[in-house]
Order: sequence, then C-alpha cells, then structure tokens
Amino acid sequence: MKELAPMKELMPFYQAVDNPAALGRSITHKKVIGTLCSYAPEELIYAAGFHPMRLFASKKEIHLAHNHLQTYCCSVVRGVLEDSLSGHLDFLHGAVFPHTCDSMQRLSDIWRLKGRYPFFADVILPAKMNTPSANAYMAAVLTRFKTDLEADAGITITQQALADAVHLYNRIRSTLSSIYAHKSKYPASLTNRDIHALVKGSMLMDRQQAADLLDKVVRRLASADPAADHARTWGTKRLILSGSVCDMPALYDLFQDTGAAVVGDDLCTGSRWFEGLTDEDDEPIAAITRRYARRMVCPAKHQGLHTRAAHLVEKAQSLKADGVVFVLLKFCDPHAFDYPYIKAFLDDAGIRSLVLELDDSQDSLGQLATRIETFIHMI
Ligand code: SF4
Ligand code: SF4
Repeated sequence: MKELAPMKELMPFYQAVDNPAALGRSITHKKVIGTLCSYAPEELIYAAGFHPMRLFASKKEIHLAHNHLQTYCCSVVRGVLEDSLSGHLDFLHGAVFPHTCDSMQRLSDIWRLKGRYPFFADVILPAKMNTPSANAYMAAVLTRFKTDLEADAGITITQQALADAVHLYNRIRSTLSSIYAHKSKYPASLTNRDIHALVKGSMLMDRQQAADLLDKVVRRLASADPAADHARTWGTKRLILSGSVCDMPALYDLFQDTGAAVVGDDLCTGSRWFEGLTDEDDEPIAAITRRYARRMVCPAKHQGLHTRAAHLVEKAQSLKADGVVFVLLKFCDPHAFDYPYIKAFLDDAGIRSLVLELDDSQDSLGQLATRIETFIHMI
C-alpha cells in the first residue's frame, strides 16, 4: 500500500515518538520524572514543576536486566529496566511507580535498590478503587505523594498550580477524545499509525506544547473535507484494540494494510490514559481521586466482576466495530487472566475477536500478517 504522509500538524508527535530519549535530554528547563503506567498521577508531577514522561522500552537487546528480572516478565518492564541500567535514561531525575501488577512492583523494588536517580516514589493506590473507603485512602496517598514531590522540588504546590495542571490535562484528554471520535466517524481521516503517534507523543512531550498542538490537529480535522476521506479505499473494516501497552506502530500499519481502521481502543497507551475529565470545580486532589474511581480499570485494578467486559462490548457496539483485537504482551498475566471472560462476553454479543500475543521488542510482525488478513476478511 502506498505510504500516506502524515499531515504537518502531526510531525512534532512523530518526532517525539521516534526518539523519546533525545526528547528527554532536550528538556533542560525542567527535571524529568518517568512514569510507567496510566495510574501515575501526572497532574501532581506537573504541578510540582517537573516534566512527567511516560517510559517505553527502547527495544534494545536485553542483557543487564536479565541479572535482575526473570525472563517471564513483560517486555515493557524488562526493556525499561535495561534502558535504565544501560544509562539510556540518564536524563531522568526520578520515576514514580503506581502499585499495580507483580512485574511492575518487582521493577519498582529493583529501581529503588539501584538508586540511580535522586527521586523515587511508590504510589500505593488501592486495588478496588470505587468504594468510599478507597476514595479516602486514595486521597491520602495522593496527598503524601504531593508532599514527596514538594520536598524534592523545594516548593509548595499551590492549589492554583494544581488547578492549572488539572485544566491542562483536561484539555489534552478532551482533544484526544474528539480526535478519536473524528477517526471513528471518518476512519480514513487519519492513519492508524497517526493515532498511535498522537497518544504516545502526548505522553512524552511538554504538556503545554502537546495541548496546543492537539488543538491545531482538531481544527485541521474540522476543516478537512470528509468526502475526500470517504474516497479512500481503506477503513471499511472497523477495529477496536484491547490490551495494556501497545507500542508497536508497525502493528497499526499491518491493520491498515489489510484495509482496517482502528476506530477505538481499550489500551493504557490509548483511551484508558485520557478518558474521563477531572472535575475542575472541585478541590483538585478530591477531583483526581474521583476520576480514578470512575475511570475504566485495567485488570491490575478491580471495579466489579464484569465491568471490563461490559465496557468493551458497549464500546464495540457504540462504535459499530466489526471486531476486537486483543493485543496482549507475552507474560502479562493480568491481561491474560481477563482475556477468556471478556472474549466470552464478546462472543455472546456476536462480536468477533482475535487475540495476538506479542513481545513489543520483536523485530518482525510479518508472521502475523496472514492471521490479521484472515480475521479482517472474516469480519
Ligand atoms: S495495564 Fe494497568 S498496570 Fe499495566 S501499565 Fe496499564 S494501567 Fe498500568
Ligand atoms: S500490566 Fe502487563 S503490560 Fe502492564 S506492566 Fe504489568 S505485566 Fe507489563
């Protein structure tokens, strides 16, 4: 398929995604705090004057991490540890680890013991997040984290700084939501890879810059001629991706090469990161807590026995998806445990699904092409 050039408003996102370490090194006006999970309270990090930057594995060969982690940890955790131990992340001032899956907790332990960076924090959020006691506990954890950040930065985070950070993150969330909605309505208006670049780039770059650039993308999309999008020959099959971290742009291309458009997702490098706004009329910590309590959980957290499956079925139906593709990282137990029951819910609702088990450091996705093609032709 002829390669489509991204629209010029997207180029800064592509540049950020191409070389996150170079971007991290270029941020000299702020200290950079790495985050590894969509449960990292980024608004607090931002309000303390740091730059929150999501860490993705650079996908170099693993050597050093093998001395500390079993090979049956997911490729994100192994890859980020390798990057840290090899000095690839030496631009970091520190990192924050929400309490989630076992692999992440082991990474947190090793990270702390290695002590390579001045700042380190575990943020022990509760497993079940939507009860009154969990809310009170979560607010206390976030307040403690705020104090840790203040001590390191040597400042007091004002309510105004927090409110400004919440507002900025809400801008990013709502623009990404409207870009996803546009892609669902006009599937060929953006390539699948564009969607990956927009979300990942927003997790990496300066957030003010990201918010301003996303506004421009929204304006550009609003002024485009939808008829031109309809004239394109791909995007007739509509897919939703479900899983944890999906940092494989080539996979987005594979879907596109078979004529399928990704019109939504349930990924923590996708809509789970930006869905749901934080209430700007409430006290910021209480409002951030409430957003976590309401936001769709990942399988490392708990909201109800069938919540994730019901949410995915509802999403597939409302987006008129032809199918769901589970993008599971090898050795990611939380998602592997959830998969059978979610698939059963999709089957009951008559929604076809495909499961791909991947290592996000694998070089070639060519062997998946036939499976994906067969699935797309079947749906
Ligand atoms: S799946 Fe859950 S625990 Fe894992 S990175 Fe995403 S949000 Fe964090
Ligand atoms: S939830 Fe899965 S992908 Fe995320 S860190 Fe844990 S094992 Fe890795």
